[in-house]
Amino acid sequence: MNPIKGLHHVTAVARDPQRNVDFYRNVLGQRLVKRTVNFDSPDTYHFYFADATGSPGSLLTFFAWPNMRRGVRGNGETNAVAYNVPVGSLDFWQERLKQKGITPASIESRFGQSVLAFTDPDGMGVELVEAQHLPAIQHWEEGPIPQAYALSGLHSITLWLDEVEPTSALLLQGMGYQFSGAEVNRHRFKSDLSELGHIVDLVHRPGKMQAGFGAGSIHHVAFRASTDEEQLEYRSALSSAGFRVSPVMDRSYFHSIYFREQGGVLFEIATDTPGFLIDETKEGLGETLKLPEWFEMNRAEIEASLQLLTLNPLEKVSKNDIAS
Ligand code: ZN
Repeated sequence: MNPIKGLHHVTAVARDPQRNVDFYRNVLGQRLVKRTVNFDSPDTYHFYFADATGSPGSLLTFFAWPNMRRGVRGNGETNAVAYNVPVGSLDFWQERLKQKGITPASIESRFGQSVLAFTDPDGMGVELVEAQHLPAIQHWEEGPIPQAYALSGLHSITLWLDEVEPTSALLLQGMGYQFSGAEVNRHRFKSDLSELGHIVDLVHRPGKMQAGFGAGSIHHVAFRASTDEEQLEYRSALSSAGFRVSPVMDRSYFHSIYFREQGGVLFEIATDTPGFLIDETKEGLGETLKLPEWFEMNRAEIEASLQLLTLNPLEKVSKNDIAS
């Protein structure tokens, strides 16, 4: 079986759809590449933020659930999602986040890389990591952030766990990851096949509080399968290893299987195909509400149940704004 290439997407929960779009699109400079609904709850939005074209490995997606109470961060959950940024850009990000009302933590060093951690407006953990080798993504030229400072796809996820061994065994033996080192209680696993979203960190926190799911929680993390065949091989191998794996689900832009790993975190394996350009042009991505065909007959009702959403004007950061 082919090893997993890295992360496909990470999905989290936000409360206010407008605030969510304003933060990830206008502040962090991620393109809203798809505006759709939660297929299991079509009266709520599902947003996909990514590079210019929705490349696997650059995707952070949100269910916008306005009535959700705030989650509590703890064990048994993905605690943070990290993006690559260019070396030397964290001073810019520190300043920009402060200007936008977010107070980041101090810059720390992790496995030789500088990391800036902060929480998004819903309390979700986000990190920016200075990467020597930026993975190739499609920079969003029309976005607010010049490429010299722009987020460049996912770097890693961090899981908080009571026990590290069962999850590490799954990564090593079941998914083709390699152990790449430990710092204090953080154990790092890497996929060699890609530089995009190729790191999983397991943080060992025995006996610490369990997470309480809610707004600001990461709902699940999705890993990449290149093809439907590869996904089916994983489905069968994981089932044989004792995991309860869902049937293949059609998510329009990819196909998905889900299972809960032993640490309690919901994992998904998603296909690279068909991708985000199947129902919109590259220029028009994210501009209008897209629905799978089985919901089209209810479009008027669905649109009426959703909050109005505005794509607010992008204030472009110029290099001159930063030079001083
Ligand atoms: Zn997913």
